[in-house]
Amino acid sequence: MTRVYNFSAGPAVLPEPVLRQAADEMLDWRGSGMSVMEMSHRGKEFIAIHAQAEADLRELLAVPKSYKVLFLQGGAAGQFAIVPMNLLRGRKSADYVHTGYWSKKAITEAKRYCKVNIAASSEDAGFTYAPKQDTWKLDREAAYVHITSNETIEGVEFHWIPETDDVPLVTDASSHILSRPLDVGRFGLIYAGAQKNIGPAGLTIVIVREDLIGQALPQTPSVFDYKVQAGADSMINTPPTYALYVAGLVFRWLKELGGLAKMEAINVAKARLVYDCLDQTEFYHSPVAKEDRSRMNIPFQLRNGRLDEEFLKQARGCGLTQLKGHRAVGGMRASIYNAMPMEGVKALVEFMREFERQHG
Ligand SMILES: *Cc1c(COP(=O)(O)O)cnc(C)c1O
Repeated sequence: MTRVYNFSAGPAVLPEPVLRQAADEMLDWRGSGMSVMEMSHRGKEFIAIHAQAEADLRELLAVPKSYKVLFLQGGAAGQFAIVPMNLLRGRKSADYVHTGYWSKKAITEAKRYCKVNIAASSEDAGFTYAPKQDTWKLDREAAYVHITSNETIEGVEFHWIPETDDVPLVTDASSHILSRPLDVGRFGLIYAGAQKNIGPAGLTIVIVREDLIGQALPQTPSVFDYKVQAGADSMINTPPTYALYVAGLVFRWLKELGGLAKMEAINVAKARLVYDCLDQTEFYHSPVAKEDRSRMNIPFQLRNGRLDEEFLKQARGCGLTQLKGHRAVGGMRASIYNAMPMEGVKALVEFMREFERQHG
């Protein structure tokens, strides 16, 4: 068996100890005589798995008691619609900050439910920065303010939390949730698809302040009504049981590692290695403003784009895979989520330096 260093943006690398444990427990989960995949979601085994996952996630993020943690389906893209359905609460408009590919998708979907005010945008510079708060035009009457706190494709991350006074702040944190401690209490709602930094695809996490739920649009499907799901422990229908189980193993892994402050320190060190490599040479180029650079997704270009294919080919030969940038921005992208080990990042940087020696 050979495992590669997988720099995919998602679905993405998972911690090897988690995969090993899942493999060990595949045929017989702790004496139950069955795989988690085969269990009733109403049985005591799975209810325990679910409860432990929620407790561990709450502990990791220090989620206040006044917040509900929901395990849903439909992906982050589902939330682009489900958030307005639930959070408009009789209001007519919502504020969105437009910072790239994913915020654009969120805006397009929200427009089907309400008036969207673009409070700020970085489109003028090709989505290479996070607009400073003093440039935002917020509407006090807005139902909520939506940001994409890590733009997975452009590699732009909010390293600060916007101030929105009494208007609830909503973030799509899909590609950096659990990469650092987070002051949950400053948000009305946080959502994330699992397949970037949490676990397998199919699971979507929503953390929502309790007083915001219960006023969904009447046509909201029950499975997407936060209040209904919160009242049923996210189980008004069958949840994505196996994905939830693996996510639970990832939460455990994070706790054993020392929690999110420890994880953040490792992520800072990993990202620094890559950015230092990019900044020390003219051969490579990072387009993102230094203070807004993502620790998780690092897009970069070879100044000589004709070398792109050769770069990817040689990288694959060295066991470094999925480095091709998203078609919307081109070039390369290294996604270095929590589960990407330091050794993988070192191997990437060594490869990049060697490639430059050969071709620079
Ligand atoms: C991947 C991603 C999405 C889309 O997630 P799905 O689970 O495919 O719906 C949305 N937002 C961000 C920031 C992402 O990285």
